[in-house]
Formats: sequence, structure tokens, C-alpha cells
Amino acid sequence: MLAYTYLEEGKFALLDKLKPVLQDAQDAIVRVTLSSICTSDLHIKHGSVPRAVPGITVGHEMVGVVEAVGEAVTAVRPGDRVTVNVETYCGQCFFCQHGWVNNCVDPNGGWALGCRIDGGQAEYVRVPYANQGLNKIPDNVTDAQALFVGDLLATGYWAAQISEITPEDTVLILGAGPTGLCTLQCVQLYSPRNILVCDKDPARLDFVRRHYPHVVTATPETVLETARTRSEHGGADVVLEVAGAPETFQLAWQCARPNAVVTVIALYDGPQTLPLPEMYGKNLTFKTGGVDGCCCGEILALLAAGRLDTTPLITHTFPLEEIEAAYDLFEHRRDGVIKVAIWNGTA
Ligand SMILES: [Zn+2]
Ligand SMILES: [Zn+2]
Repeated sequence: MLAYTYLEEGKFALLDKLKPVLQDAQDAIVRVTLSSICTSDLHIKHGSVPRAVPGITVGHEMVGVVEAVGEAVTAVRPGDRVTVNVETYCGQCFFCQHGWVNNCVDPNGGWALGCRIDGGQAEYVRVPYANQGLNKIPDNVTDAQALFVGDLLATGYWAAQISEITPEDTVLILGAGPTGLCTLQCVQLYSPRNILVCDKDPARLDFVRRHYPHVVTATPETVLETARTRSEHGGADVVLEVAGAPETFQLAWQCARPNAVVTVIALYDGPQTLPLPEMYGKNLTFKTGGVDGCCCGEILALLAAGRLDTTPLITHTFPLEEIEAAYDLFEHRRDGVIKVAIWNGTA
């Protein structure tokens, strides 16, 4: 089968590999119908994910059809259309029992697919702990609608969930890339009074204005002023920092009102500094980290009910055979690309 593979730093290639087989009673084999390229894949390519194992098939955001299951798998059956969770988790340990699956203590726990074990930019993928890692897609939800459930939507859903948003709030989202846009959709579920979105890219802000006309947009230069004037207490009640730049990290606390919640879900290239003397008395609550991706069933139900729709984010589609060209487009952000979907000819 074809599998897009991490060879060494700076080098991915489409190789012919053996089809994966069941290795454990809790495994499932999924025939991938649609996968996508994530910024984290580029981080692997550029060598900034030290845990990534050379030789693995990349790709951690995908949907498909169950081909085979181990004897301990009860959640799905062969023939089921499923989403694949970016995170592998045992469901049994202290952290899993609390819903903190990102810190599952299993050796394969956390982000393993397409990083430490073979992922889904391929024709087939083996999914460990399939009872936790796979969710059935409702009949009225298409593969394209479900494509981001396991990674981007899981992240946006988790970020909105932990941010304590109320209907009185003004919520500011820093960053309007794919994760920022999924976060925006999930923030909308809480019906806050105002939503502000900040990005430095005019094309991304234009996308926000076209698809979410009720959202107020700002640039890094104007966002402080916008947060002050558009909220009732001198700043945003909730700030979600998705962009991941030193500048946006500072804007996150500066744009917040006193006693606000600041949720930092971005991944930074280096350490960031909190100027605590300047912040003293502002009494902010910071929440940080990586997604606890265990709400895929709830997200699929919201998609089925029409309360989420991320299909406008898929701006380009390529067959797996042309994945090289898809990466080139995504990496260089050409042609207004937001997300690229990779489809398999076997579908
Ligand atoms: Zn990702
Ligand atoms: Zn666990």
C-alpha cells in the first residue's frame, strides 16, 4: 500500500509498504478514505518533533472504514465508518479515568499515530486501543464533515470547554488558522455576547468575515483597543491564544480584563515570559496544554445536528498519489490554502 513516510529531517516520501495487520486484541485496521495535512506534520518534517521516529508513516487526522478488529474491540465493527482520534489512550489509568487522556501513562499514550507509530496518510492504518480511538460517524455526516473530529475539532472543543465561557462574555481568539477557526466554531456553542478574532493575515481575517459575519476582527496592532472597546470591563472576559508567537502570548494577558481566564493552547517554538510585576493584581487564571481528545462522540453528534460545520476549511483536495504537491501547497501557504484533504483512490 502507499504510505507517506518520514525518512529523515527535511525528507518525506511516498513509499510502497506492507498493509498493517492486527498486533493486539484491542487493535483495529482502518481503510483510510480521507486524511489531512496538519502543521504538526510540517514540524516533524523540519525535525522539531524529537519523538518522531524515522520510517513511520505520517498523518494523524483521518477518517475511514473499519476493515478488521481485534477480539477485545467492542465499540466498532468491520464496515463501520469511523473517525480516528489523534490521541491513543488506555481508558484505564488515573489520567484517563479523569478525562485527562493527553497524559495517559500507557507507553503509547498521547500523540502516537503518525509520530511514534504509523499514521494515516496511507491506504490503511492500525489503530491501537480502538475502543477509545475510533468513533462511528453518523449516517448523515459525510467523511469530509467528520475529517477534523479527531484532531482540530477535538482541540477547539476542549479549549472552549475548559475556558468557562458564559453568555455574558466577550471572548477573544488569537489566531485564525485552522485550529483558531475550529476553536471559533466551538466557542460559538456557548453563545457568548461577543466574539473577537485576531490574526495578522488579511486573507484569514477576510475568511472570518465572510463565514462568521457576527464576529469582530482585529489585527495584532488593533486588538488591544478592540478588546477594550468591545467589552464591558476593560478587556476580554476570556482569551484563547491559538497563534503561538511571542507577540500573541503577550497580547493574551494584555487583552484580558482583570480576573479573566486565559487559555493557551498554542505550541511555541521556545519558552515565553510572563512579566509578573506588570501583571500583579490583574488576578488572571491561566490554563495551558494539549488537547484531552476524548469528546469525539459529542463532536460527531454536534456535526449530525448541524451545530458545527468545518467543511469550508477544506480549501484543496488531492489524491494520495499527489500528496507531495499537496504538502508543497500547504507548506508554502499558496492559493489561500487553509486545509488540504487527501483522498484515497480505494474509496
Ligand atoms: Zn494535528
Ligand atoms: Zn490511560
